Amino acid sequence: MSPAADKPRHRVSRVPDRADYDLETVGEILDATTVCHVAVIDDRGFPVSIPTLHARVGSTLFLHGSSASRLFRTAARREVCISATAVDGLVLARSVFHHSVNYRSVVLFGSPEAIEDEDGKNEALRAFTEKLIPGRWEDARQPAPQELKATAVLRMPIDEATAKVRTGGAVDEPEDYELPIWAGTVPLRTVAGEPIPDDRLLDGVAEPGYVGEYRDARS
Ligand SMILES: Cc1cc2nc3c(=O)[nH]c(=O)nc-3n(C[C@H](O)[C@H](O)[C@H](O)COP(=O)(O)OP(=O)(O)OC[C@H]3O[C@@H](n4cnc5c(N)ncnc54)[C@H](O)[C@@H]3O)c2cc1C
Repeated sequence: MSPAADKPRHRVSRVPDRADYDLETVGEILDATTVCHVAVIDDRGFPVSIPTLHARVGSTLFLHGSSASRLFRTAARREVCISATAVDGLVLARSVFHHSVNYRSVVLFGSPEAIEDEDGKNEALRAFTEKLIPGRWEDARQPAPQELKATAVLRMPIDEATAKVRTGGAVDEPEDYELPIWAGTVPLRTVAGEPIPDDRLLDGVAEPGYVGEYRDARS
């Protein structure tokens, strides 16, 4: 048995001072990230890790996709491990060995459950749509019954979860601080470009205010 085998599986061993078990921190990172990876053992016994969107409401994580998707059919019957990451910067050290990145990441364990009722699905889809861009749910056409049927929605409680966060500059070997080599950080962030109207947009349909607000907040 490895030394860590008797620890809870979400307990960080490597660089534990970067770990944060506060579910509020976990929630903030889930809200700040667009894509998560859902890892599951598939029906053939292989591990797979599939990228997908996620949304959070309180202490519940929602996943959604095609009802025909292997991921969603499998994940509703199995334990999964879900991770999401924001990369906040490059960390350039004096030595190659100490190069790193600044990040906020989360890892969650749990057993997702399929939401079957229309109200529950709609609530989750609203959360997805509003997370993509606030204001969109009320503006866009609402899901039709057959669209809801074609959409699998999974919910998972966020309880067995860890955040790991790296901030700050390079940490070099003491003697390397004497080297004439540039070191520092390069901040990274996702920015929004200029919105591009759809080719088939009807004449006279103006860009909604919330699209410009979104772009302005991220340019
Ligand atoms: C963008 C990014 C780049 C990284 N690059 C590297 C790299 O190049 N090399 C490297 O060694 N490490 C890197 N890490 C750190 C890496 O994610 C692991 O934390 C580290 O490799 C230790 O893994 P482990 O399985 O030995 O951790 P352990 O501490 O044994 O993991 C135990 C448990 O801690 C939790 N945990 C572990 N890592 C994370 C995490 N990142 N976020 C949230 N929970 C976590 C999980 O619940 C896990 O089951 C990177 C992290 C990020 C976010």
